[in-house]
Amino acid sequence: MAKYPFPSKRAAIYRDVPDEQWYNWRWQLSHRLNTAEEIGQVIPLTESERKALNAPNLFRVDITPYFISLIDPQDPDDPIRKQVIPTAAEMVPFTAMMEDSLAEDRHSPVPGLVHRYPDRVLMLVTTQCASYCRYCTRSRIVGDPSATFSRSEFEMQLEYIRHTPQVRDVLLSGGDPLVLAPKILEEILSRLREIEHIEIVRIGTRVPVFLPMRVTDELCDMLQKYHPLWMNIHVNTPNEITKELEEACDKLTRAGIPLGNQAVLLAGVNDNVDVQRQLVHDLVRIRVRPYYLYQCDLVEGAGHFRTPVGKGIEIMEGLRGHTSGYAVHQYIIDAPGGGGKIPVMPNYLLSYSDHKVVLRNYEGYITTYEEPVDYLPEKAAKFKGLKRPEPGQSGVHGLLQGEEMFIKPEGFDEVHDRQGIQHRLKDEKKWQPLGIGSGSSETHES
Ligand SMILES: *Cc1c(COP(=O)(O)O)cnc(C)c1O
Repeated sequence: MAKYPFPSKRAAIYRDVPDEQWYNWRWQLSHRLNTAEEIGQVIPLTESERKALNAPNLFRVDITPYFISLIDPQDPDDPIRKQVIPTAAEMVPFTAMMEDSLAEDRHSPVPGLVHRYPDRVLMLVTTQCASYCRYCTRSRIVGDPSATFSRSEFEMQLEYIRHTPQVRDVLLSGGDPLVLAPKILEEILSRLREIEHIEIVRIGTRVPVFLPMRVTDELCDMLQKYHPLWMNIHVNTPNEITKELEEACDKLTRAGIPLGNQAVLLAGVNDNVDVQRQLVHDLVRIRVRPYYLYQCDLVEGAGHFRTPVGKGIEIMEGLRGHTSGYAVHQYIIDAPGGGGKIPVMPNYLLSYSDHKVVLRNYEGYITTYEEPVDYLPEKAAKFKGLKRPEPGQSGVHGLLQGEEMFIKPEGFDEVHDRQGIQHRLKDEKKWQPLGIGSGSSETHES
């Protein structure tokens, strides 16, 4: 299976770098490229790229020698190039652009900890990454060394989690947790593991993609002491899937860490059904389960990467049924303003009546499913385990459970309060349809 060539391409300027250095992650990190001059030695820059790289206040640029080598230098539309080399389009504002489009800061009970969902938290453990994605949703803090999280903040985060027993899942992100000094990462994991109600810990990282040599045996030995540990990587195109990435994923998987992938739908990068199908096929080959495909956030600098939502729906239409269910990610719009992740997909349920559901499949075959007429909801399976507290967050599921009959937007009652008096229409004895009787005032008596 010579699917992924090994070793991967090396840009011409790295030809003479000895393997001991090239495959050393510290060498890769300390030789990252970030100026027009440095990047221009590897790739002939376009006018737009040169302009962006020389602009003040640009979101941080850093590219590992390994990753920049995957770019075809002659192709200005190379899909890896667009992810890491800025263009002037990054400086163009757009409607609905926001600095913190997911309202993470508002959801942070302590700095660097985002508690958006009832049972899980997002912990931002560093602002640094191995390379910087131009569409970063957290560009307001990421890349800024002065915004790095302090020890006292880390203690506050732990304190919050310790006192919030409904949290069973901690998601480590940033920045990229795998660029932390190994001792610090281990301390975070071991301190979290001391908290009894934490069931799983997840790491969100692009290190295996930007810097696969960081995934050493020692790192995997350390990580596997803290199971159950899950990991999501971030691959957007088949071009990023190299022998080196495959080896890194193999090591992680052998250490018992289930791997998922979170991709972002990006204009000109992976907004094509065939590219997406190749991506998810290559991911499952290296035992990475496609998890989410995100609609690009409304974040500063990322306007030109947005696609219509219809493109995402079209991609999902082209995956579901056409390929292994394991290879199909979920398309997600992370709600601007902080509503959280919302799954979006084509409609498969065409119609519905009492006891009959009309469905269509990926081929357009239309079928009916007959529901039972004697189903007894009160006989549904009982759950005898202990229920975790989820105060005030029953949501739409609560409507189905009959806990509530409606969910009102904030201020609904005030807006609709017209100082109304109780209507009497329901009082049948006092009401007769118009036209009956004499039209006199007798129907309007009080
Ligand atoms: C994405 C995210 C999570 C995790 O969501 P899952 O759907 O469970 O993967 C948790 N907290 C925040 C704030 C997030 O943005």
